[in-house]
Amino acid sequence: MRILFCASEIFPFAKSGGLADVSQALPKALSRDTQMMCVMPLYGFMDATSLDAYGQTLELKLGGIEYHVQIFTTVRQGVQIYFIKAPMLSTTEHLYGDSAGAYSNNDLRFGIFCAAIVELAGILEVDICHLNDWHSALVALFVREKNLQIKTIFTIHNLAYQGIFEPDTLERLGIKRQYFHINGLEFYGKVNFLKAGIAYSDALTTVSPNYAKEILTPEFGCGLEGFLNLHREKITGILNGIDTDFFDPQNDSALTYPYSATNLKNKNKNKKELYARFGLGSTKLPLFVMISRLAHQKGFDLMLESLDAILTQKLQLLLLVDGQSEYLKSLEDFAKKYKNFTLLFGYDEALSHRVYASGDFLLMPSLFEPCGLNQMIAMRYGTVPLVHDVGGLHDSVHQGTTGAGGIVFKKPSKKALLLAFARALHLYADKPLLERINIANMQRDFSFAPGAQKYLKLYQKLLA
Ligand code: ADP
Repeated sequence: MRILFCASEIFPFAKSGGLADVSQALPKALSRDTQMMCVMPLYGFMDATSLDAYGQTLELKLGGIEYHVQIFTTVRQGVQIYFIKAPMLSTTEHLYGDSAGAYSNNDLRFGIFCAAIVELAGILEVDICHLNDWHSALVALFVREKNLQIKTIFTIHNLAYQGIFEPDTLERLGIKRQYFHINGLEFYGKVNFLKAGIAYSDALTTVSPNYAKEILTPEFGCGLEGFLNLHREKITGILNGIDTDFFDPQNDSALTYPYSATNLKNKNKNKKELYARFGLGSTKLPLFVMISRLAHQKGFDLMLESLDAILTQKLQLLLLVDGQSEYLKSLEDFAKKYKNFTLLFGYDEALSHRVYASGDFLLMPSLFEPCGLNQMIAMRYGTVPLVHDVGGLHDSVHQGTTGAGGIVFKKPSKKALLLAFARALHLYADKPLLERINIANMQRDFSFAPGAQKYLKLYQKLLA
């Protein structure tokens, strides 16, 4: 089987969140069993000097306008990765937008990306295009329109982002009006790219079994629950994994003191180092960390409502957050008010590893969470996750009988969150139990191997 994995971000080339991690780790895991190739945009901020130019160029005609597209390539971890360099797509300094908001020509940027993918898939003679989120969703429609012998599988990583544009997008991309109806791209009078993936792909997946159920309900369906119910027969929920070679506390170049389940003492040395660097208080107090995009989804309203009650307790809180958001100002005010609260702003991969390694508890009070990777990374680093029981957090953080797991609260309310903190403080006081839980968590398999096997079966079924 020849599979082309299509994504708008792949770590380490471009990353805004978990999609980039998955787009690196899943093809890598699958490449043991099948021929995996990946394709992503070449953004303006990326350095193309280490990439090879791929001989072929593409002349795409969309909406009567010609676009000249170049392709670059490299091999990473055994996977051939292709990069699409195209007008508008490749001139930006960010992936999707800047402080002024989303780029106004994202419809064209990613429309061209999708059209280029279809051409590339033909050149590479792929059997399946594996599409991810709205940025590559139009491939399913283009493949259908051209009646190509290529199967498409569409994975929803986050239903909250749908790629919604004004109707003139249709003309700009040369998409026929016949697709603009309630069972196609139309969404309250606008064009919805994600709907193309749902409507025209041969198989649909989402990133955890629980989220696969949740998205069929009004609470989590983001207005598409009815449409998803129409297509429910082709939906499978497959739990994400992480690259356990990369997220490995024993072999992590970002850590001064590597450690494993049998050598947890070193974890504390990382904590001490972090405290020294940022001038934090006593390392004896439990350290709660959060590593996150500043998005509503991640539970920042709940955090802001609860911070006074949290920060008056005997604990340290450290947030490493990124993204444009109105939450930043309020968080800064709390950081000025409370000595035991440290706010770090920016995206910093190496620092995030040090924070995972230093934390005693990782907070994820998410309102919804398709899968979430932070909690898996945290458990791998012997840091107990404290999570809202939702989406993939439900599937990946268990509490109870096996000794592994985390602290789970049922309702996204201040009361429930504070009770979860109380349980965490109680657990922190019971060092032997805390250590048992951390060791059990560190020994769990969070790799992509089980998930990759499920995707592989799905690919085989599509081609059977
Ligand atoms: P989402 O994709 O919704 O942002 P995930 O939990 O699936 O959430 O993945 C988030 C990924 O981004 C993880 O690898 C996490 O460590 C990383 N991350 C989030 N915020 C930051 C940050 N400020 N600096 C570095 N890495 C971050």
